[in-house]
Amino acid sequence: MTDLEAALSDVCAAWPALQPPNRMRVSEGAAANLRIARPGGASGYWNPAETPYMVEPVDMLGSRRHAAVCFVGPAQSGKTIGLCEGWMTHAVINDPGDMLIVQMTQDKAREYSKQRIDRAIRNSPNLWAMRGASSRDDNLHDKQFKNGMWLRLAWPTPSNLSSTSYRYVMLTDYDRVEDDIGGEGDMFSLGLARTRTFLSRGMLAVESSPGRPVVDPSWKPSTPHEAPPTKGILGIYNRSDRRRWMWKCPHCADWLEAKPGLGLFALPPDDELIESVRGMDIDAFARDHARAVCPTNGCLIGFEHRERMNRDGRWLQDGLGLDDHDRVSGTPRESSIAGYWLGGAAATYITWETLLRKHMQALLEYSLNGSELALQTTINTDQGMPYTSRHLAEAAAVATDPASRAEDRERYIVPNGARFLLAAVDVQGGKNARFEVQVHAVGEHQEEWLVDRFPIKQSKREGMGDEFAPIDPATHPEDWDLITEKVVNATYRTSDPDREMRVKLTVVDSGGEDGVTDKAYAWYRRLRKEGLQHRVRLVKGASGKDLDWYTRETMVGAKQGQGDVPLHLLNPNKLKDVVAACLKRKVPGPGYYHFPQAKGPKNPQGWLPASFFEELAAEVRNERGVWEQIRLRNETLDLCCYIKAGGMMLGVDRKGFWDAPPRWARHHADNSEVISPEARRAMREPAAPRPEARRSRPSAYLS
Ligand SMILES: [Zn+2]
Repeated sequence: MTDLEAALSDVCAAWPALQPPNRMRVSEGAAANLRIARPGGASGYWNPAETPYMVEPVDMLGSRRHAAVCFVGPAQSGKTIGLCEGWMTHAVINDPGDMLIVQMTQDKAREYSKQRIDRAIRNSPNLWAMRGASSRDDNLHDKQFKNGMWLRLAWPTPSNLSSTSYRYVMLTDYDRVEDDIGGEGDMFSLGLARTRTFLSRGMLAVESSPGRPVVDPSWKPSTPHEAPPTKGILGIYNRSDRRRWMWKCPHCADWLEAKPGLGLFALPPDDELIESVRGMDIDAFARDHARAVCPTNGCLIGFEHRERMNRDGRWLQDGLGLDDHDRVSGTPRESSIAGYWLGGAAATYITWETLLRKHMQALLEYSLNGSELALQTTINTDQGMPYTSRHLAEAAAVATDPASRAEDRERYIVPNGARFLLAAVDVQGGKNARFEVQVHAVGEHQEEWLVDRFPIKQSKREGMGDEFAPIDPATHPEDWDLITEKVVNATYRTSDPDREMRVKLTVVDSGGEDGVTDKAYAWYRRLRKEGLQHRVRLVKGASGKDLDWYTRETMVGAKQGQGDVPLHLLNPNKLKDVVAACLKRKVPGPGYYHFPQAKGPKNPQGWLPASFFEELAAEVRNERGVWEQIRLRNETLDLCCYIKAGGMMLGVDRKGFWDAPPRWARHHADNSEVISPEARRAMREPAAPRPEARRSRPSAYLS
């Protein structure tokens, strides 16, 4: 159909006499006209009652308030027959418009044409009556109908997905198709552009089981219906109004979600199952656990109730709630995309027992040979869930643990068990330039306590109005002196009010954007003049695989190989391994991290932002043993690595170090870094010539 014809048909549609005779719902049109007969299988008209959860999504294909329908669901849900053949049938009979159905490959398109479309036309009398008169009207990839409607069965290529306008576009198996179609963009955007000419009369539909991996294993939903951040169809679903399928509990009448995955069943965690699966009778296990648990009242729901629950089930948009009197409350999420995410537990053509058996068999395979393939397949296509790889899940368990065991700990206080203080500074350039500072107290055998974390954002230079200018580590050398003042010369309180502890060593990142490195070296030279150079180490992350060292010293600042500034190269990968290993420790002692509880609803008085722990979990170790960043901000993890490196530079990890530690690593009573508040003031004001007056009269303005 040309644009002109499309425009004409738009005009005609407004003229009642020319409107299609049947303004019926798409599911009704499909049920009345689509007759299915498979060789050797049952035959009959498509029955919406068999897959009640498909009725609303199929009807939504006729919506003029939505531009697209997105359906995420498992393979055995009957989604394709309703959304593809059902929609096509209704369109041909009741509401014609050119239609494009995209299959994942050319072979699939051919197979689909022969097995599903041709058979549907042959077995459905009303469709048969509409078929085109000439043999030219019917070939593998194009079908022309009597009323002029053209059906095209294609596969994802830029030429198939660009230029021509279609009133209806159906994209199948979306997550089995690459994200970018020949450099033209994603299939969803390309498809949407095809229907645009038809304005509200156009419709794009997309369906798939999830196939894209979860990249952030410790993600938590910000609304009840949010999906994990993935590419592919769940990315589209997250932009939609996010509907989920709800069941009414047959025992207590409360509503529960027929969740994707196996969350409805009271299974032990996968970690435990992997341990026990080898000695297990999998069939018996699947049979015994095939009962859903109602989350509000703990009712056990047998599989025999599923058909009824599906029949009485309903879709619920994100933002809405349903009470046991079926009253809806809340404000629904609005979007031009109607989005549906169905889990395998509701899918008509798979039983709960089979769902569990396949999961256990896949876990068995993983425990026997480490292969995640079967697990990923059953989780994606049977359970309707995106897959989180085992190594990511294990990394997440480590990274989220510290947050859950966090302590009630005050800021700025050095615990009695700690022997010295290490600080780390991460240099952030650009628009939100700052020095990000973290201070740990370190005890025997590298037990660590977080005592401070803060950004330095303001310089001492004049800025707009009364404000100081924001710092700029790349262009203003003097901004680096703020690190001297606020970190290198900082002291922290101990339990004794007359004793404070100096920061023993500050590890400062010197890499980064243009200009940063020079300013870092110049600052180091100034420190040398002040006699403070032994309290600072400049570091830079080394790149390259398979480095077998943790830190390495080199001289920089002048010509190659003959500098005056020592620079310590760090091996980020190995240091992250050390931090991760320490985060795994469950009981205080060697290597253990003590973190305070983050500020949040449960701890409104807390000083540490929750982002601290998010940044700590910003990277995961992949199968090749290389750390990959999965979140934008990862400063906490970097700072923890700098602090570990600082300890190594001081030799605290050497054998025998803690048998006879140097004075700066001894108990507070005998520690060279523990000083009186007066000594601290003298240290900070070396030019002021009246130490005695200060000792007798410590005044507020000097501290
Ligand atoms: Zn219940």
